[in-house]
Amino acid sequence: MTLQLDPPTQDALAELDAAWRSKPIVQQPVWPDPAALDEIVSTIRAVPPIVAPAEADDLTARLADVAEGRAFLLQGGDCAETFDNNTEPHLRDTTRTLLQMAVVLTYGAGTPVIKVGRMAGQYAKPRSSERDALGLLSYRGDMVNSIEATEDARQADPGRLLRAYANAAAAMNMIRAYANGGIADLAAVHDWNRSFVRNSPAGERFEQIATEIDRALGFMAACGVDDAALRRTDVYSSHEALILEYESALTRLEEGRPYDLSGHMVWIGERTRQLDGAHVEFCSRIANPVGVKLGPGTSPDDAMRLIDRLNPQNIPGRLTLISRMGNGNVRDVLPALVQRITSEGRKVVWQCDPMHGNTHESSNGYKTRHFDRIIDEVMGFFEVHRGLGTHPGGIHVELTGEPVTECIGGAEELSDADLAGRYETACDPRLNTTQSLELAFLVAEMLRD
Ligand code: PEP
Ligand code: MN
Repeated sequence: MTLQLDPPTQDALAELDAAWRSKPIVQQPVWPDPAALDEIVSTIRAVPPIVAPAEADDLTARLADVAEGRAFLLQGGDCAETFDNNTEPHLRDTTRTLLQMAVVLTYGAGTPVIKVGRMAGQYAKPRSSERDALGLLSYRGDMVNSIEATEDARQADPGRLLRAYANAAAAMNMIRAYANGGIADLAAVHDWNRSFVRNSPAGERFEQIATEIDRALGFMAACGVDDAALRRTDVYSSHEALILEYESALTRLEEGRPYDLSGHMVWIGERTRQLDGAHVEFCSRIANPVGVKLGPGTSPDDAMRLIDRLNPQNIPGRLTLISRMGNGNVRDVLPALVQRITSEGRKVVWQCDPMHGNTHESSNGYKTRHFDRIIDEVMGFFEVHRGLGTHPGGIHVELTGEPVTECIGGAEELSDADLAGRYETACDPRLNTTQSLELAFLVAEMLRD
């Protein structure tokens, strides 16, 4: 018997494809061999996807709680994941750091914290120029080309889309296992936080929160509380939806609705959010929760038009607005956006990305970020929302669970001279473990105020 594919099914996916392909698209590589690309894309169309539609719906429902002020969103991970670094220790340490941050934030917020990794698929990068300082084609993420500095390695290679899929699937498998097993155990996570408080120069300041959490855990144990929720959690995956051949090849229909099953949530970057562009078109048609970055040049009208395109039915949880203004702009630019969108009755998650507006070059030539500016942008974000009576829904950060030296400042007082020690990012500078935890404790204080 031959399997009959349902014609409407094929039509809906073909329609989605035709829709984004008919729009102008930016930030794409030139694929030297289009036939090879087509072949890889048809292979990916047939593989089992990385996440399931019901999980994406669950995330939308949880983000609806964030939009309504009943939960907080923590999203973080590498700027650019790489195939080489897609290892057990790397995934475990990033997941653990997210979980450690989440415990502190849960206590501070007194609400659930929804955990979303920039993990299991964050393999494509927009670039500010076609060529790098050496005159080579820019590195666009491991999904597209190699970071190695040769002309040949920088050619776009469609075989990398398949490697991205395989790496993302393997990573998601581990993340699910961690979320269900030992490292998600609340008592263990709190023990790691305890040792951070003991050993970090920032620790003293956070002693009180850590002690309060101790007492809360002790109280629950004394009462005999022994719920599965204390031993497991959910960690969702997300990445920038940039290379649409990959995203659309992993899109499947569920009850007639297209889900991009390359990850639970995808976002549109600051450089690809043109209203009539392919990325907005694609994301407007998928059923996943989606995000869009908003830089300092965003007007209230721009934001409203994006909302009209991306969430015309005003479904809470469907759309996250990720402001990345820079610490010097957030207090000036964000209020008008929040006021307008709130007065129009639009339900969105407001999330602060304090990384991408605060990048500078160090005196010794590294792309870096100062911890103080990162904290200041988050504080500005909280101030704006507190002032307007709206919910500061979450944070979006570039971090790693390793002791890298990529961002300066923080309680360890990393300086320009320290950057050379462990500067390992494939793209933007990330907070290291202690800087990430320090951020979480500071945000917990802001949430309590
Ligand atoms: C990113 O999140 O890594 C990124 C490129 O951000 P943005 O689109 O805000 O510049
Ligand atoms: Mn980045």
